Amino acid sequence: MLFLYATALVTVALSAHGTHAQTLGGEGSDARTLASPKYGTWGFDASGMDQSVKPGDDFFRYANGKWAERTEIPSDRVRYGNFDKLIELSENRMHAILEDAVAGKINDPDASKVAAAYASFMDEALADQLDAKPIERELAEVRAVTTKDQMTAVMGKANSSGFISILPVYIATDAKAPTRYTVQAATGGLGLPDRDYYLQPSFATQKAKYEEYVAQLLGMVGWEKPAENARAVVDFETSLAQDTWTRAERRDRDKTYNPMTIAELNTATPGFDWNRYLAQSELPKVQRIVVTTNTSFPKFAGIYAATPLDTLKAWQAFHVADGAAPYLSKRFVDASFGFRNKTLAGQPEQRPRWRRAVAFVDRTIGESVGRIYVARYFPPEAKAKMDALVADIQTVLKARIQKLDWMGADTRARALEKLAKFTVKIGYPSKWRDYRLLTLSKSDLYGNVIRAAAYEWHRDVARLDGPVDKTEWGMTPQTVNAYYQFTNNEVVFPAAILQPPFFDPDADPAINYGGIGGVIGHEISHGFDDQGRKSDGDGMLRDWWTAGDASKFTAQAGKLGAQYSAFEPLPGAHVNGNLTMGENIGDMGGLSLGLDAYHASLRGSPAPVIDGFTGDQRVFLGWAQVWREKIRDEAQRQRLVSDPHSPAFYRVNGVIRNVDAWYSAFQVQPGDKLYVAPADRVRIW
Ligand SMILES: [Zn+2]
Repeated sequence: MLFLYATALVTVALSAHGTHAQTLGGEGSDARTLASPKYGTWGFDASGMDQSVKPGDDFFRYANGKWAERTEIPSDRVRYGNFDKLIELSENRMHAILEDAVAGKINDPDASKVAAAYASFMDEALADQLDAKPIERELAEVRAVTTKDQMTAVMGKANSSGFISILPVYIATDAKAPTRYTVQAATGGLGLPDRDYYLQPSFATQKAKYEEYVAQLLGMVGWEKPAENARAVVDFETSLAQDTWTRAERRDRDKTYNPMTIAELNTATPGFDWNRYLAQSELPKVQRIVVTTNTSFPKFAGIYAATPLDTLKAWQAFHVADGAAPYLSKRFVDASFGFRNKTLAGQPEQRPRWRRAVAFVDRTIGESVGRIYVARYFPPEAKAKMDALVADIQTVLKARIQKLDWMGADTRARALEKLAKFTVKIGYPSKWRDYRLLTLSKSDLYGNVIRAAAYEWHRDVARLDGPVDKTEWGMTPQTVNAYYQFTNNEVVFPAAILQPPFFDPDADPAINYGGIGGVIGHEISHGFDDQGRKSDGDGMLRDWWTAGDASKFTAQAGKLGAQYSAFEPLPGAHVNGNLTMGENIGDMGGLSLGLDAYHASLRGSPAPVIDGFTGDQRVFLGWAQVWREKIRDEAQRQRLVSDPHSPAFYRVNGVIRNVDAWYSAFQVQPGDKLYVAPADRVRIW
């Protein structure tokens, strides 16, 4: 699943509006008849521009510079911008819903569960009183381990407990049989955000602090020799990191599809007993597993065999405490915040407890909150407008594919076939999640966390042999984001992204085409990015490209990757053009399609000029406004190695310089800093 934007590590999408083949803004093309949009007088906050900057030198600052100068990132945030403002709005609305649920004012079948989840998180006094007690049972189970086989069994319970595994299994759609689920296995076991934190000298400080944090938590739960064990745990994880595929490698959908029998797995990982492991995972009958990063498996087994049992026990105990810390007493909450938020992301202060409680309920029983959210905050007209807008974007993409000069007839026909088979989901699911089997108690926060995990896992296990549920959503309606899902060939736009500055019915249409139009285009383009192009209209991983067209695509993608890899947001820290490839292609397609759809909406009439800005200029400004954002350096460094999205700055400046219309819209000339010669501009879709 590919997101539009990374929140905690999530992504964002675009939204749009407009009746089909009509403008995206109000009725009629006279922009002066607009009602009052949320941003500025025509949907764009022009007061945030810095017009002393030449657009061709730095378009992000031209569009957003004054806003950036006057904006401080709030002390409880690592990043702030237009996405975050909408995320706060969603949180505030959920907060109102949860307070009402606790007060018994919500009429919904799950209202009491929602209230219990919220109340359990808000009961800070109880959490303080219990201290480490909620994890005593799991820690005792780790203490009782006397053999590696027993440790393997403990790791087998990872999906329905607080334990973790070095080789986690999960259930997902089979990429080569997209109507079926399958068990998949990957590598895991790391407590830092990415393998680079263990291996790159630039992260040495964070790694040293991690060791202190491991020792701190082990000490807090009374584990013996915390400092010594922490050193051994970090050494163990460093070995795993060395044999972990890079995130860029893990994006490869062909190389990560490796079906194996259980016998083959047992042969590949001596000392790691898959039968015992799967029995504890409640998957005793599974015969076949799709292994992702297969070459790591024998190496992980070797490290597991070579590591002393006491180290593995300390490692498991630390991860139980680390996973539970946000739900325990203040000293655990503070320790977790101090390392994970402050040290790793540069966040000065904790978010208020109620905001953390809202996020917890959203993770735990989010669709039921969403059902209430949608009834309160999502007008039915919005769904119809989005339907039309998505259709508009599909129409202009169809026209683009028909005209692509680098693509041959065979590939073109199949690309059009795929485009015609997209599924579009807007607002909220047609069928809501059934939480009847989930028990939530207002006086058992950590128990709620574990029961929610177990509920999800049992649900996956129970339907393993059934058909894939194509109605399911991977995001709640109150999420400010969007996504493309390969195996369903679907684009999904939750209700909460269909708001200004993405989509504002009272804004100038050009702003909406640059905003939600670009987001829709971004998500649809994922179906044709470097990984999305590997599956067909039915979501099956299958090569439908001629060799010649595939190599032309790859050459263009390589050029784009080289452009992005040259970007250096912080001294010595570059964008990873391979990790961000799919998202960059999505952004390129998104903006181009938003612009095309705007042109189509004019139906041959000239675009109005508003406050001196032409229609095309306003589309580009609309796109730039969506990515108006500031981020702390520490958080930026973390994202550069772990987030498949480029920094917001380059989601503007990296994209526009490849779009011919941007040059003519802003008279960008050779010598301007963002200028790319026509022959070097990347054109894919
Ligand atoms: Zn994306």
